[in-house]
Amino acid sequence: MRGPDESVVHGSKATAKDLPSVDRLLRSEPVAALVAEHGHTLVVGEARALLEGLRAQAQAGSLDARAVSPEALGDALQQRVAQRLAPRMRPVLNLTGTVIHTNLGRALLADAALQHLLAVMSGPNNLEYDLATGGRGDRDSIVEELLCTLTGAEAATVVNNNAAAVLLSIAALARGREVIVSRGELVEIGGAFRMPDVMAAAGATLVEVGTTNRTHPHDYERAINERTALLMKVHTSNYAVHGFTSAVGEAALADIAHAKGLPLATDLGSGSLVDLGAHGLPREPLPQEMLAAGCDVVTFSGDKLLGGPQAGLVVGSREAVGRIRQFPMKRALRMSKLPLAALEATLRLYLRPERLARDLPTLRLLTRPAQAIDAMARALLPAVAKAVAPRFRASVVPLLGQIGSGSLPVERLPSAGLAIEPQQKKGTGRALDELAAALRSLPLPVIGRVAEDRLLLDLRCLDDEVPFVAQLPHLRHALALPPLP
Ligand SMILES: *Cc1c(COP(=O)(O)O)cnc(C)c1O
Repeated sequence: MRGPDESVVHGSKATAKDLPSVDRLLRSEPVAALVAEHGHTLVVGEARALLEGLRAQAQAGSLDARAVSPEALGDALQQRVAQRLAPRMRPVLNLTGTVIHTNLGRALLADAALQHLLAVMSGPNNLEYDLATGGRGDRDSIVEELLCTLTGAEAATVVNNNAAAVLLSIAALARGREVIVSRGELVEIGGAFRMPDVMAAAGATLVEVGTTNRTHPHDYERAINERTALLMKVHTSNYAVHGFTSAVGEAALADIAHAKGLPLATDLGSGSLVDLGAHGLPREPLPQEMLAAGCDVVTFSGDKLLGGPQAGLVVGSREAVGRIRQFPMKRALRMSKLPLAALEATLRLYLRPERLARDLPTLRLLTRPAQAIDAMARALLPAVAKAVAPRFRASVVPLLGQIGSGSLPVERLPSAGLAIEPQQKKGTGRALDELAAALRSLPLPVIGRVAEDRLLLDLRCLDDEVPFVAQLPHLRHALALPPLP
């Protein structure tokens, strides 16, 4: 081992010989404490990886002599261990302006759902056990009665997500046969979920009728033959066709289907269970309306406008839902007990519709008045402006947000927030990237959006400003700005 003086002579660089062995590192005092806390396996693994990395640096001649002191090695190892133990899935602040954001986990769970999850997941529960008879139960029965009460359906079943609900419904009702869908409704929901592909995956033959903008009753009628098993409507949830358009509504299509003894299925996508119009929001078709119009099967998501966990809900006639439930694929797509518990608690909130805007976070956020958001933005402005000065300036701006997850794609939600822009026009793009990255690097990452040379923070989904404000010193640090006095 060389002394510290020699390192200085070598331009403060360490060589591989300056690094301790794994054993010696483990015996050093700070590392022994780490082993006592986390055990041998994790710490040794990280110690090996740390020394390996440092050795490579040393061989490249780029290892600072200060990095090999026992204290520095102990600190570096502790950081590695902490990083390894830190969860990859983390809470973030969604200030994108999109309330139901697919990349940010979609709907937020209600307190009631979180509490119910905790209460029933920490021990055994009656997931598939009938407490009345003491015999085997069916997990569907946990939510079936609720779903029937809320939608007027005869029967209901639930699966992993709505994509699974659609796949299963088609497979159960039309495998090896034909399904008629309008060309105006051959939706792609995102990536791998495209109606023609789902049809093929379910083993059914898609029969397209009509045109992109217009489909008429006789288009369906002419396509029906002895191979037809199902007529299907798909809610165009993430786009809108305007102008010279015409589609056949559920009631008319149900008549056409039933006249030939065929079922009609509708995939609603988002499927709100309450009339959003009554909450001052744009209307979405309701599953209960689809059933009343004569649909035999209606499918919709649990974590879009419903405001619950990821789930695929299937409601409809006893006959059709029965076939779907009996289909062997159901077992592979069934819901886990965790989201099932959250779904039950979420659905129960709908039994008290007058309380919904208070109890259901999705609806609470969607109905937050723009003035309240604007007032919050004004209250936060001074602290944010101070935190990003002098490189950036901040202002309060009116914004237009959206519901998200394909719900009501053309509607915008009047909102408000903060716009942060670089003081210097030169290098704006880079400065904004840096600002966005700094916001994402915070302990509670803040996700905004960049538009028109500004970083926009829509405050609609900021329920509580305290954690946001508490992080502003971190933001200043991440932007390499001097700390405020
Ligand atoms: C979102 C959506 C789906 C998929 O639902 P997931 O719950 O995400 O699986 C299917 N169909 C339509 C029309 C949708 O909008």
